[in-house]
Amino acid sequence: MLSAGINKKGVANIMNHEQEKQPEQQLEREARIDAGVYANLSEEEETIITPVRGEEEPVPPEKPDPEVLVEAVDVRQYFQVKKSRGRKALVKAVDGVSFAIRRGETFGLVGESGCGKSTLGKTFLRLTPLTGGQVLFNGEDISHIKGKALKRFRCRAQMIFQDPSSCLNPRRRIEDIMAEPYKIHRLYDKNERADKVRELCDMVGLSRNYLKRYPHEMSGGQKQRVGIARALALRPQLIVCDEPVSALDVSIQAQVINLLQDLQQKLGLTYLFISHNLSVVKHCCQRIGVMYLGRLVEIAPAGRIYGHALHPYTNALISAIPAVEGSGTERTLLKGDLPSPSAVPPGCPFHTRCPHAMDICRQYRPELKEEEAGHFVACHLYNHQTEEDNE
Ligand code: SF4
Repeated sequence: MLSAGINKKGVANIMNHEQEKQPEQQLEREARIDAGVYANLSEEEETIITPVRGEEEPVPPEKPDPEVLVEAVDVRQYFQVKKSRGRKALVKAVDGVSFAIRRGETFGLVGESGCGKSTLGKTFLRLTPLTGGQVLFNGEDISHIKGKALKRFRCRAQMIFQDPSSCLNPRRRIEDIMAEPYKIHRLYDKNERADKVRELCDMVGLSRNYLKRYPHEMSGGQKQRVGIARALALRPQLIVCDEPVSALDVSIQAQVINLLQDLQQKLGLTYLFISHNLSVVKHCCQRIGVMYLGRLVEIAPAGRIYGHALHPYTNALISAIPAVEGSGTERTLLKGDLPSPSAVPPGCPFHTRCPHAMDICRQYRPELKEEEAGHFVACHLYNHQTEEDNE
């Protein structure tokens, strides 16, 4: 079972206690579940998917760091999927992720499609119930809040979606779409809402002439500005930006990124910026986390990730950034495809594609450890673990 220790910077190290000491039977069962090949889970195994509240949840730090706005502590998000012949498989979309985002920071989350970035972003907003772990917002556990408390939380955390066309109701005018958060939360009367909507237009650089139009009458960049305005309507503290520019033209991407940065300066926003485009993340994030198969494999300040990445997977991602011909940048080509998240390889999940894989990598999962100040990596090349450590 994974748990997390919190260091002074509010960033947690993942510990794998079950790998240290476990009865043989338990290890066998875990191995079957890790391989995603078990059929018809017993009641006991079901509790692994949905832990009993209060039994397995880690204890939050006693005094929350006032600099930290939101923190994931051993967050797990598992889904059951049906396979052929009534068999079930467990997809571990997010598996024991711990990190903290400071107030006013832009934290980038990168990785291949299907690595769990968007699922993790949704857990920060409580859009999906957690399988395990905790999300702390302003030091308060929001993992199980419901009803009015959840509605209040929605005012403080919002999302900007990837596809601006599919996140706007095509039957409604832009003014109605932008006023919807005020209606849902019963804020202001009709005239005040109209004033607020016009203010939002000015804030995101959208002409007020568009307010009477429908989404299909606007360009992709204009629609994304509407999406940003709607996310800002309730003056949130945290915005999860889920690939906010990947559906836009390159010239529009720069405009939207600059707009997000200006708004952050003016309103003191905190962003979780999810992207598979490392060039974009480099431009706008202070710290970056790299995900692989539902786990964080490296966390570091942006300058260190691009200058001195430690994890072989991060280096492969960076080497894939298009470069000018003749710049001397060497490509690291990874072997094979991303394994299925329902059949995560044992040991280091990256060992099937890693050019530096060793015997220990196939047996023991490396922990996320601080290799240098503020630079965390989960790799046996750096963690110097011995077999005795893992017994
Ligand atoms: Fe490669 Fe081993 Fe490091 Fe995993 S732990 S990234 S397999 S060297």
